[in-house]
Amino acid sequence: MKITLSTIKADIGGIGGHTRPSDEVINAVNDVVNNTEYNLLLDYYIGYTGDDIHIIMCHQHGLENNKIHRLAWDAFKEGTEIAKEQGLYGAGQDLLKNSFSGNVKGMGPGVAELEFEERDNEAFVVLAADKTEPGAFNFPFYRTFIDSRSNTGLIINPDLAEGVVINIMDVMTGKIAELHLWGDKPEVEAALMYPGRYVVESVMSKKGEPILSASTDRLHNIAGTYVGKDDPIAIVRCQKSFPATEEICSAFNSPHFVAGDTRGSHHLPLMPVKINTPASVNYSLPMVMALVFSVHNGKFTGPHDGFATPDWNHIRNIATQRALDMRSQGFIHPATLVPEELEYNKGYEVRMKKLEGLFSHKNKKRSIIQKQSSRINTGNFKNKKNKHVKSKR
Ligand SMILES: [Mg+2]
Repeated sequence: MKITLSTIKADIGGIGGHTRPSDEVINAVNDVVNNTEYNLLLDYYIGYTGDDIHIIMCHQHGLENNKIHRLAWDAFKEGTEIAKEQGLYGAGQDLLKNSFSGNVKGMGPGVAELEFEERDNEAFVVLAADKTEPGAFNFPFYRTFIDSRSNTGLIINPDLAEGVVINIMDVMTGKIAELHLWGDKPEVEAALMYPGRYVVESVMSKKGEPILSASTDRLHNIAGTYVGKDDPIAIVRCQKSFPATEEICSAFNSPHFVAGDTRGSHHLPLMPVKINTPASVNYSLPMVMALVFSVHNGKFTGPHDGFATPDWNHIRNIATQRALDMRSQGFIHPATLVPEELEYNKGYEVRMKKLEGLFSHKNKKRSIIQKQSSRINTGNFKNKKNKHVKSKR
């Protein structure tokens, strides 16, 4: 049977800051999704990553279906009401429009969807991140689909060895480039090099089977101003002719530096965490979780918690050490983002504006001082003030 997986996520408020949603907010979201009046879903799962709530739905209504998107929108709206009642921080912050217009894309929530003919042993992983941006997945996706040092399946699985088709989005223009491996490998690498600009939007097999879909909206482009980091979510189908579950999840075992963190203005490593982990108040370490599912006849089994086994504690320790190392240099880049990425930060703009004025002023002043000092050195200075200086010597 043909099924659609739709994952829609939003930050609609956190307890005492950007930490996690309250149980009451999650319950309110769940009550809407569970409302049988909608009668749209074969199955669903609701959880959270830091302050982001994700709704993972299975249905047969296809991609970008307005009823499915409306269901998620209504659920987040209802959750926002509770968040406001509780005075949660950033209540409704990802709902950027007042009324629903047929599709939540461009309205704030992040969306990743796949439609496919269900296999007998259909398996997929949802990768849900917080305190970072869509490009945070560039490196792990590279490791999974391109780097055979990370994924031996690229050599020994005949389908993966053929290469995949990667759609890469320029998040500033919204345009998408279709790149074919292995011929376009250098161009794929050139794009993935800058995660703030180019991100993996989707991946297909050479036979046209959908493998991966990732959310790609940048919130500050939608809102026209900074309203929070656009934390990504992705669905990746696994096993058989696709990457093994381990080949997808192990790509997160070397916590790489990503943009995000406190005030969305820093670089820190992406730490793999257990399902439903609150954001760390240790400078909001970027985090990612792996929700591993089986689905049969549209019914989920799972999620199995991909990053819950003991080995991942060691990886979390590496991430923590790397984070402390980076934080030890305070605000000095690359601990902080490049100026273009900080521009949405009003305080930074004010500082820079003042600094720019001081540059021209000080240069002028410096040349006057230099002239004055050269006169002193040559002994032909007649200014009263500097006579005093001379006598002091
Ligand atoms: Mg968030």
